[in-house]
Amino acid sequence: MAEIQYRLEQKRRIVGDFPGPKSSALNERRQAVVASGVASGVPVYAADADGGILHDVDGNSFIDLAAGIAVTGVGASAPAVVGAVKEQVEHFTHSCFMVTPYEGYVRVAELLNELTPGDHEKRSVLFNSGAEAVENAVKVARLATGRDAIVAFDHAYHGRTNLTMGLTAKSMPYKANFGPFAPEIYRVPMSYPYREENPEITGPEAAQRAILAIEKQIGAESVAAILLEPIQGEGGFIVPAEGFMPALADWAKEKGIVFIADEVQSGFCRTGAWFASEHEGVVPDIVATAKGIAGGMPLSAITGRAELMDAVHPGGLGGTYGGNPVACAAAIGAIQTMKDYDLNGRAKQIETQVMGRLRSLARNVDIIGDVRGRGAMLAIELVNPGTKEPNAEATKAIAAFCQKEGVIILTCGTYGNVVRLLPPLVIGEDLLDDALDVLEAAIRAQV
Ligand SMILES: *Cc1c(COP(=O)(O)O)cnc(C)c1O
Repeated sequence: MAEIQYRLEQKRRIVGDFPGPKSSALNERRQAVVASGVASGVPVYAADADGGILHDVDGNSFIDLAAGIAVTGVGASAPAVVGAVKEQVEHFTHSCFMVTPYEGYVRVAELLNELTPGDHEKRSVLFNSGAEAVENAVKVARLATGRDAIVAFDHAYHGRTNLTMGLTAKSMPYKANFGPFAPEIYRVPMSYPYREENPEITGPEAAQRAILAIEKQIGAESVAAILLEPIQGEGGFIVPAEGFMPALADWAKEKGIVFIADEVQSGFCRTGAWFASEHEGVVPDIVATAKGIAGGMPLSAITGRAELMDAVHPGGLGGTYGGNPVACAAAIGAIQTMKDYDLNGRAKQIETQVMGRLRSLARNVDIIGDVRGRGAMLAIELVNPGTKEPNAEATKAIAAFCQKEGVIILTCGTYGNVVRLLPPLVIGEDLLDDALDVLEAAIRAQV
C-alpha cells in the first residue's frame, strides 16, 4: 500500500492567542458584509490544509477532526485531486452536461455504479449538494411509484432546502421559523439504542415499531420512499440496532416502496466501507452521496436501480452545474486516492485507535454516557453523572477546550450533547494520538 506523503508538517502548534490579528481583521470585514445567519464554529480563517493539519492566517496549526464536516476524507489538498482539478480547469471549467456532455461525468457515474452496494443494473445522476441529491431521490421515487408519502425518521438530517428541511427532524437551528414545509412527509421512530425506553428492544423490533407507525398513519400503499441515514449524522452519530435497516429495507421491497439510503455523510470510506449500508448487507434502491465524494469540490449524486432512475422522462432531472467537470475530475482523483491508500482500511485503524482510548476513558469518567460509531465516524454522548440527561454544557466546554489547544472538533445531536470525530482518513497515527490526548484532557476537565 502506498505511503501517504504530506506537504505540510503534521504537527499541532498554537503560536499565540487566537483569533490572531489577521483572523480578527478578516472577521471585522466579514461582519460588515456576510449575513449573520451563517455561523462559524472556529474563530480563525483558514490559509492552508493538508493531511490532518489546518493552518490559519496567523500561523497557528490546528489538528483537524472535522474534515469540513466529513468532506475532506482524502485530505484538503490531496495530490491526485489537486492534479486532476488543475488539468481540467486548463481545458474547460464548464459546458453544462445538459448542453455538451463530457467524459468526466460518465466516468464518475461508472465509478458510483460500481462502488455502491449491489450488482444490479444502475444509473446515476450528478448534482451539487447533499440536499439536492436527496431532493432528486425523492423526485425519482415519487415518479417511479406514482405515490406521494415520504417516510423520514426521528433525529434525521437531510439538508436545508425547503423539502430537505421538512425531512430534517431538528427545529433549531435548521427549521425554526423557516416554514411552511412541503407536505406528505411523515416522521417515524428511529432505533437509538442508548435512548430506548426498553433497552432490550432489538433492531428488527425497532423496525417493526416504525412499520406499525407507517401502516397506521399513512398506509404502505401510499408510501413512495423510506429515507434513512444508515448512521445518522447531525442527529448524533446514531448507529441503529443491528437488523433495523435490513428489516426496513425488506419490508419496503415487499410493499413496492423505494428504500433510499442517505449516505451523504457516511459514504466514501468514512465508516470503513465504501458505504455504511454494506455493514448490514443492505442494498438500497437509491443511494444519495455527496460530502466525501470529491475531496472538497461541490458534487453530489444519486445512484439507483436502472428501472427506477430511467422511469423519469428525458429532461426531468438535471441542473446547470450538476456534475461540473472540475468537480468530476476531483471525484475521480479522490476515489483513486481512496483506493491507492486503502482508506477503508485506514478508517478501520482509526476506529481501533480511537475506540480503544474512548472505551477505557468511558469506564473512568461518569459524564460519558455512550461511545459509538463506525470507522472514522465516531462519537461520545455526554450526560449528567449517574443519569442519561443530555449534558450540552459539558459538550460545548469540551469543544471549546479542544479548540483552544489547537484541535478542531464538532458537536452534534438532537440534544446538542454529542462530540463527534470526523478526521480526514489520511491523518497520521501520531497526530491523531496527540488530538486524543487533548480530547481526553478536555473531558477530564469537566468532571
Ligand atoms: C450534510 C448532509 C446533507 C446535506 O448536504 P449539503 O451538501 O449540506 O446539502 C444531507 N444528508 C446528510 C446525511 C448530511 O450529512
